[in-house]
Amino acid sequence: MVDTEAIWREFPKNLTEFEETFPDEDSCRRFLINLRWGQNPRCSRCNSDSLWELKSGRFECSSCGRQTSVTAGTPLHGTRKPLKMWFRAIWEMTTHKGGISAKDLQRIMGFGSYKTAWTWLHKLRKCAFSRDRTPLKGAVQLDDGYIGGRSQEIGRPKETKALVLVAVEAHGRVRIEHSPDLTIETAKSFADRNLEDSCQVTTDGWRSFSEKSLGLRSHQQHIQKKKRNFDSDPLQQAHFALSLFKRCWIGTYHGAISWKYLQRYLDEFEFRHNRRKTLGVGRIAARLFQSLVCNFPITYSSIVSNTSPCMRFETT
Ligand SMILES: [Zn+2]
Repeated sequence: MVDTEAIWREFPKNLTEFEETFPDEDSCRRFLINLRWGQNPRCSRCNSDSLWELKSGRFECSSCGRQTSVTAGTPLHGTRKPLKMWFRAIWEMTTHKGGISAKDLQRIMGFGSYKTAWTWLHKLRKCAFSRDRTPLKGAVQLDDGYIGGRSQEIGRPKETKALVLVAVEAHGRVRIEHSPDLTIETAKSFADRNLEDSCQVTTDGWRSFSEKSLGLRSHQQHIQKKKRNFDSDPLQQAHFALSLFKRCWIGTYHGAISWKYLQRYLDEFEFRHNRRKTLGVGRIAARLFQSLVCNFPITYSSIVSNTSPCMRFETT
């Protein structure tokens, strides 16, 4: 049995502790073994826990003879780069408030190719999304917004911009999704996947936010007649979350995110944002490690081919 909460509590909280805890390959491998299997490594073929550890760091099953490693069957499957480099990449991606661009990761890690850094970050972004997350609760602000495009026009919609739906708990978690349109069906699908039935929802006056999309959830609609200042804005937190993402979009990625991949960047933003109050910035990295050892291998070709705008990256 893996005590993930204990691993999380004991995880290095800052870069100095991180470098002391993971100085070499062995320390990184030991950490992943403990996180994935606890005290009992298991065979990936027959699930036997009767495994020998070889000098190479791999394990051999005494029942079926199969050799396996702690990274087999995870997104790190078959990696030829040292684990220490992956650990550093995870640290960089999770602990910087605005994330890190592939270009910067390439520079920090000394990769010969941009594509390697880009692929690594996408593999990690996939781990940032959890299917088991719980819906938002209590008072929730729900709004739509637009990312990108060149114009400063106010209103909906713009072909050059990407439409997103955003929901925020009071001083709490956020959900943000790239959306194909702003119909009742889309709003309903978003609400059903992301909001508990008992939520009290605040929206603007847009017609898709109605009983038909929000069901029995209590609903307060604020029709915006004139431009509000930040303090009097009933959707203040939703607007704030969206503006934080836009800041990353410009500041970290220089506005160069393809709409095809936007949802993955939103998932990464959400992952970090929802853990912003975690004490010890390193513990955000710990959560990504936990997800990493439970995820499946991801190849470059599946990253670039198995996706379409507004879709999450599907497991291959
Ligand atoms: Zn076996």
